Amino acid sequence: MLLLLAKMGYTVEECSIAMERCGPEASVVELTDFICAAQLSREADVYLPDDDLKPRYNGVCKIKKRKFFEICKKKNDPETETIRLPNPMIGFGVPSLQLESISRSLPDSAIGPPFFYYENVALAPKGVWDTISRFLNDIEPEFVDSKYFCATARKRGYVHNLPVQNRFPLVPLPPLTVQQAFPLSRKWWPQWDPREKLNCIQTAIGSAKLTERIRNALERFDGDPPTSVQKSVLDECRKWNLVWVGRNKVAPLEPDEMEMLLGFPKNHTRGGGISRTDRYKSLGNSFQVDTVAYHLSVLKDMFPDGINLLSLFSGIGGAEVALHRLGIKLKNVVSVEKSKVNRDIVRSWWEQTNQAGNLIDFDDVQALDGERLEEVISYVGGFDLIVGGSPCNNLAGSNRVSRDGLEGKESSLFYDYFRILDLVKSIMHRPA
Ligand code: SAH
Repeated sequence: MLLLLAKMGYTVEECSIAMERCGPEASVVELTDFICAAQLSREADVYLPDDDLKPRYNGVCKIKKRKFFEICKKKNDPETETIRLPNPMIGFGVPSLQLESISRSLPDSAIGPPFFYYENVALAPKGVWDTISRFLNDIEPEFVDSKYFCATARKRGYVHNLPVQNRFPLVPLPPLTVQQAFPLSRKWWPQWDPREKLNCIQTAIGSAKLTERIRNALERFDGDPPTSVQKSVLDECRKWNLVWVGRNKVAPLEPDEMEMLLGFPKNHTRGGGISRTDRYKSLGNSFQVDTVAYHLSVLKDMFPDGINLLSLFSGIGGAEVALHRLGIKLKNVVSVEKSKVNRDIVRSWWEQTNQAGNLIDFDDVQALDGERLEEVISYVGGFDLIVGGSPCNNLAGSNRVSRDGLEGKESSLFYDYFRILDLVKSIMHRPA
């Protein structure tokens, strides 16, 4: 496998990290998917300064400072790594594969309200999920690959305290294969390209140069190209999620196609006239709406009058869109998102869908301290759900700080998720 990957142009270091993280049974597709994510995150990482690689503790939390550092200290100890990725990656079930009987018991301290839902990449460096889980009441992550919900893979872990029985999917069910999702491409799809699902949608796309090169390589042959050419074309198609758009012609997904695959309304990321590069970036980081909605569907009966949502790292509003599509009324949404582009996208979606509730936005989770939270909580009257998928730049692979896992500058924002959740709980549970 190592040789095969090296032949495809990956470095030995990249390959061995991918093989270690993905496990002995991982397929070429899974490994290349992992390496691509790592490469992309490494590019993003170049822009990050070196400072501030320690988890922060800045809040008057229920959990005391000493305990915080004790939990931190245990991190990344291979002896304590207990969490393994399941195969198939279906968590507590997916619409097509519902498990006969599912149950789990949560420690008392984890039982809502408020409910919480935390997301991150499944293939994080060793020990990261143990640490996340340890901070979040020792709840085991639910690992799910969105390929069971739509035509594209997205392997994510979710730590939450929601019930897991009686979930239901969003309707209409989205297309499950590439061929169903892109019927027009069927005419051009060669029989030697067996892909039924696309790989994880990333923040960068294949270049025009690459698609041109593929076209030139294929045009040299009348019929099917020799298997060696097939293989190298397929590798690029898998790596860059290219689809067939003409004879011998592949192209990267368009932003509106990604929106469709990820469960967003068409042109969702167009709001405010942002650039294509920004649209790709925001989509590459977002939730897959059908997957998240399936998990959140249990809230519908519990909150017939709607919910108050605290949405941390809101991005383009995957959680908001999921709840709205489930028909769960959004009474107050406090959304915290650093990128103005993303805040504008969520605001314009909010207006376009004629929401009756209030959307309040903040830009930086780090600025959300106890005082601010007290004010917000007294204004909205408490939160029913706290959602967040903190950035995963340092988690996705073999980048410079990957071994620090959660301690990378961006990934350490996980601790802000934890800090804010803890603060909200203490404020809401304080005797009046
Ligand atoms: N779940 C979201 C995407 C999460 S990606 C969705 O469905 O779209 C992580 C997000 O965190 C990014 O949008 C990034 O802009 C944002 N972010 C990064 N640092 C932040 C900070 N300090 N405060 C708030 N948001 C931040």
